[in-house]
Amino acid sequence: MSLDRDTRERLVRALAAAMIEHADELTSLDQAIGDGDHGLNMKRGFEAVLATLPGLADKALPEMLKAIGLTLVMKVGGASGPLVGTFFTELGKALPETPARADLVAATDKAITAVKARGRSDAGQKTLLDVLVPVQTVLAAGGDAGAIAAEAARAADRTIPMLAIRGRASFLGERSIGHMDPGSRSASLLIGAAVATLAPEANS
Ligand code: ADP
Ligand code: MG
Repeated sequence: MSLDRDTRERLVRALAAAMIEHADELTSLDQAIGDGDHGLNMKRGFEAVLATLPGLADKALPEMLKAIGLTLVMKVGGASGPLVGTFFTELGKALPETPARADLVAATDKAITAVKARGRSDAGQKTLLDVLVPVQTVLAAGGDAGAIAAEAARAADRTIPMLAIRGRASFLGERSIGHMDPGSRSASLLIGAAVATLAPEANS
């Protein structure tokens, strides 16, 4: 997979648009089981990322991903900033400039391991890991872009009946059940936006 400058810029714009356009939805999800700031957090972070264009897209893919991660860690308040930021940073550290599928599989695995360490969390606790982990499994199993996007959406839906064990939602105990995890929804939107940019035929 070779991402030219135009594709890198379109990728950044698509990720940012997904967060900005869905900020209200993410906020209402976080109002139900958190403190209602997730939409604003992600919007603010990706607006800051957008502000680093066009220079951001001049960077090679690994450097661009690391720069996105750094901006998110600095600009996004709340738990999600360091976690999503770590994912982008570690992906950038692990990916070569022109990644083959096997590189993407290995790099996403490393990035997820770093998120788990940072959050002291794992899949099954109603967090964004409940999207990242199953999507990475589909990627590692050779699933195509359509399968990856579909799994991201389904995985976010599967957080609805889960009991939150990490993050603010865990303070609610059983009352966290019955609501989609906001971080899972944003992760699924980001994955959908990346797939739509890198493999547009998958969404048609
Ligand atoms: P905050 O919870 O600090 O208000 P956000 O509302 O921006 O931050 O983000 C909440 C999301 O962050 C949750 O929906 C969940 O997916 C994710 N999250 C919170 N804590 C953790 C953790 N320890 N490990 C993994 N993900 C987490
Ligand atoms: Mg919140």
